Amino acid sequence: MSFGLYLHFPFCRNKCSYCDFYKELYDKNLEGQFYDALLCETELLAARYADSDREISSIFIGGGTPSISNLTLMGEWLDLLRSQFDVGDDIEFSIECNPESVTLEKLEILKGFGVNRPVFGIQSFKPKLLSVLDRRHEPHHSQQAVYYANVLGFKNFGVDLIFGLPGQMERMLATDLDEIISIAPPHISLYQLTVEPGTKLAADVASGRLRLSDNDYNFALYKGGCDQMAEAGYERYEVSSFARPGFECRHNIGYWDGSDYLGLGPSAHSFMQGRRYANHSDLRGYMKALEAGELPQIEDDSGDEARVTEAIMLGLRTSWGINRERFNERFGVPLENRLNRKQYDLLIGSGHLIPDKGRLRLSDDGLCLADEITQRLLK
Ligand code: SF4
Repeated sequence: MSFGLYLHFPFCRNKCSYCDFYKELYDKNLEGQFYDALLCETELLAARYADSDREISSIFIGGGTPSISNLTLMGEWLDLLRSQFDVGDDIEFSIECNPESVTLEKLEILKGFGVNRPVFGIQSFKPKLLSVLDRRHEPHHSQQAVYYANVLGFKNFGVDLIFGLPGQMERMLATDLDEIISIAPPHISLYQLTVEPGTKLAADVASGRLRLSDNDYNFALYKGGCDQMAEAGYERYEVSSFARPGFECRHNIGYWDGSDYLGLGPSAHSFMQGRRYANHSDLRGYMKALEAGELPQIEDDSGDEARVTEAIMLGLRTSWGINRERFNERFGVPLENRLNRKQYDLLIGSGHLIPDKGRLRLSDDGLCLADEITQRLLK
């Protein structure tokens, strides 16, 4: 069976105020050591799955900021990957790009590597909001990055936006979306800002320096954003994901549908052949294990209970919902048996939950409240 491959590139030029992804400040020497370790990890994984089908169905390079990577080193890793695994020529190949680090030359090299879906972390076009996030780029970097993607003929590319930012008014999100829609990316992700413990943002909110908008306001922002994108021809296929038909992110769909994926790099997770693994979330620990010839991972044996909850949460966030038969096959129990019966009946009655051709999915309105509804169903 084929699988999606994820690489976590663990370096950034600075640390954004809201971010809790694993990253280190960029250091050229450390990057060289990371790639040495990554080559070992790739070979060890190829050996582990030597007797299996090693067909990669999609590649996603995230991080961190992979667009600041040394591209010679990245190219060497990709050569090794292609020599050890079966990588088709036409697979979806995404890479996250921070707008300020994108140049025409860089994008051209990435295209030569087979990248066919750059994803630009625009977040907002408002300088004030970018500064709240401690992002390094300015609006013109975002416009330029998308211009380069068009010049190079990328048919598919994505942009990321954030809503729920301190000080973000409805009008501000609407004009950001107007601008995004005018540059016509085939894919838009609209994420809600979350305050992660231990981040600078969390400290600023706790001290009162920054104030977050309340849930009702955020709901209005989200709903307005969804309507605006729908009018412009984007289909919401997951709570945060909007695409022109045919441009849905296949790699992410694999996560939501419970398909296999293999994660490389510090903090990356894998789900392969029914087993889950998590790589060390620490670059030095990751490199040390590989120097000793060991894979830098521990097996996650949290059991079926956590997997059931995850499958329900992720499935209900998609527009197609949960496939009942597949759920039963995976967990050996009918989906309804894992849901709160009273809430289930109430939500079916209110039209938020829809049994639909062997699937259970949320209505359009239900998707706007997906997390809340899932919590009710899992009680
Ligand atoms: S660039 Fe991305 S990964 Fe790096 S700190 Fe900012 S949000 Fe986090």
